[in-house]
Amino acid sequence: MALRSDWSQRTCSMARGLDILGDAWGMLVLREVFFGNGRFDAIRERLRVADSVLTKRLAALTDAGLLTRRPYDDGGRTRQEYVLTAAGEDALPVLNAVVIWAEKHLPAPSDQAHMYVIHSTCGRRTSSADTCTQCGERLTAENTSWHSLARTGAPVQLATAATKAAGAIKAAGDTNATEDKGTAA
Ligand SMILES: [Zn+2]
Repeated sequence: MALRSDWSQRTCSMARGLDILGDAWGMLVLREVFFGNGRFDAIRERLRVADSVLTKRLAALTDAGLLTRRPYDDGGRTRQEYVLTAAGEDALPVLNAVVIWAEKHLPAPSDQAHMYVIHSTCGRRTSSADTCTQCGERLTAENTSWHSLARTGAPVQLATAATKAAGAIKAAGDTNATEDKGTAA
């Protein structure tokens, strides 16, 4: 579902990428799903967005293969929530870069209006979108937290893809998975 004229056949890969990742509401929807907030009503509440706007973005991100639906039990009734695919998880550096750029170049309207990208493993704030500038480790959703000061008192461990692409399966034995990534908001 294109939100503007279709750029999916552009010769430039940046243009084709922006066809998916260049929509502000779509990026904020991805932000919510990375925060573990993948249920329609909860996303709508957080974004203060009209149903029609949210429905379009969820459909566009699902059609583009960044999100997928997963059933959950809502008090005896089965409903659908949105979770990341491997392609959606791969967009993390793009979102990180937007946050880091905004923190560097845009004024914040209040002391609470800040968001930091944190490397969970070392616990420190990074100023690069894909590498921890404190310890040098590559950032993945599994080892990254976001700290939105207006949102929570502590960093929130990010959600990861519900289904991993072949070859992206995590090595067994990692003991850093302590958060409940499915419901934290
Ligand atoms: Zn680090």
